[in-house]
Amino acid sequence: MGHYCRICRCERPNEQFSGDSYKIHVCKRCKAKPKSERQATEDKDDIFGFLEQSHISEKNVARLEQMAKSDNPQVASLAAIVLDVARVKPYKTRRLKFLAQKHPELLGKLRDTGLILAHHW
Ligand SMILES: [Zn+2]
Repeated sequence: MGHYCRICRCERPNEQFSGDSYKIHVCKRCKAKPKSERQATEDKDDIFGFLEQSHISEKNVARLEQMAKSDNPQVASLAAIVLDVARVKPYKTRRLKFLAQKHPELLGKLRDTGLILAHHW
């Protein structure tokens, strides 16, 4: 039986985990990566997660605002897009239809970045 790593999102053998790496669900290989890289992965997880939620809350928006200023350009651009979505349509219900009608350019960005997939989960 392996153990799940939340950074690389795969099941790895138990020997790939040790001590606290087991507890925090991060395998040895990911633990060896620079912190900034791990942070970017977690940030992206959060961004995608917000779109999966039925509602993007005020608290989420505050977090998105922070991430939009990230040093990581990918995190910053994804956060900026979801921030725009949260501002015009915080609720998931009929979001895509609304965006298609009122903000097609934003919908285009969701498609281009793959963020739209999170919406469908
Ligand atoms: Zn890993």
